[in-house]
Amino acid sequence: MQRCSRTGCDRPGTAVLVYDHVRSTAFIGPLIPGPSAGPPASHSYRLCSGHAARPVVPADRVVVHLE
Ligand SMILES: [Zn+2]
Repeated sequence: MQRCSRTGCDRPGTAVLVYDHVRSTAFIGPLIPGPSAGPPASHSYRLCSGHAARPVVPADRVVVHLE
């Protein structure tokens, strides 16, 4: 089980947050388990359900939720 990336949070990660620095956008989508998913990019973070629902991102970032 991969845990949430937030400091001090030990809940299981169920979503992934990816920053697009070029477009100043943060994407949140489901964390897809399995060998084909590969390692996350260096600018992506796993989030638990609670943190995915209330992500903490810089004020100048647009948050896009992917279904
Ligand atoms: Zn969390």
